[in-house]
Amino acid sequence: MSNSIQEILKKRPLIITGPCSAETEEQVLETAQELARLQVGDIFRAGIWKPRTRPGSFEGIGTRGLPWLQKARELYGMPYMVEVANTKQVEDSLHFDVNAIWIGARSTVNPISMQEIANSLRGVDIPVFIKNPINPDLELWTGALERIAQAGIKTIGLIHRGFSVFGNTEYRYAPMWHLAIEMRRRNPELAMICDPAHISGRRDIIQAVAQKSVDLDYDGLMIESHINPDCAWTDKKQQVTPQQLKNILDTIIWRKELSDEATFNSALEQLREQINHIDDELLDLLGKRMQIADKIGQYKKDNNITILQTARWNEIIDRETKKGGNLGLSPAFIKSYLEAVHMESINHQNKVMDQK
Ligand code: PEP
Ligand code: MN
Repeated sequence: MSNSIQEILKKRPLIITGPCSAETEEQVLETAQELARLQVGDIFRAGIWKPRTRPGSFEGIGTRGLPWLQKARELYGMPYMVEVANTKQVEDSLHFDVNAIWIGARSTVNPISMQEIANSLRGVDIPVFIKNPINPDLELWTGALERIAQAGIKTIGLIHRGFSVFGNTEYRYAPMWHLAIEMRRRNPELAMICDPAHISGRRDIIQAVAQKSVDLDYDGLMIESHINPDCAWTDKKQQVTPQQLKNILDTIIWRKELSDEATFNSALEQLREQINHIDDELLDLLGKRMQIADKIGQYKKDNNITILQTARWNEIIDRETKKGGNLGLSPAFIKSYLEAVHMESINHQNKVMDQK
């Protein structure tokens, strides 16, 4: 592996861009040319084999698209990466001297596919990016990572592209930021890239989602760009022109994780002290609350009363939602907070009831 891809991967923010799918040689070359002219993007991406949820739609141009990506690299100097889902795709990509590969959400979710891909990468020195699985399961993401690492791959990155949930949300795939944050906590040495295009599913919120990932100290972005997004064969609503991509990147406020400025650091330190203090107080209070729950449990047990009274639970939700709203807390937060506290309370009372 040439040093250059390793050098490029160190760039922050790392920008991966290019069309959802390679469609024609012209579309690939024109998109790459425009990106090069505007000087946006570090790595060019294009889907060659597209794992589509339903049959009958465009499933990728296949191996004959790989020379187009090589040609774009020769002409415009950007290394390229493609998605692979099986051994044949790995072999063909390597045959056309791909610089890096990524594994799509529909493969990460499947241990059999992951093991097949990992086996075909044994002994190969190529960077691999692993998208989160379709469903919100960190163990599958971790398992995929372990399989690739066990195959001897040294350079691995993670791509957060959001999760499928039932029902409509404002996103195409719910970001569930806490899952990516937890994955990052477990693997601090790996680059974490955000794919705001797939999370959003539409152009108008890509910038806001990208900004959020920058604020969470992600290492880079994967954003689909296409010379003519409205005519794209896949994912047209979420693709942007190279110029639109440049505008998005230009309006992002890039922040750094740490500062060496003494006044800033000491102010931050003081505020964090306050937070620690409040967190301790909250835990003390919760401990006290559970002691009262224990007493209630004993009282209910002595009088043969059930733990849960739905009317009382509704009353708590109503009262606390109103109060929390006045304090600037979101209804979603109050709901999950109350559910957690209530569940702990029920567990405490259960324990009391079960005591002989
Ligand atoms: C893609 O990047 O075009 C793609 C298919 O992504 P995902 O695996 O995240 O759906
Ligand atoms: Mn896509």
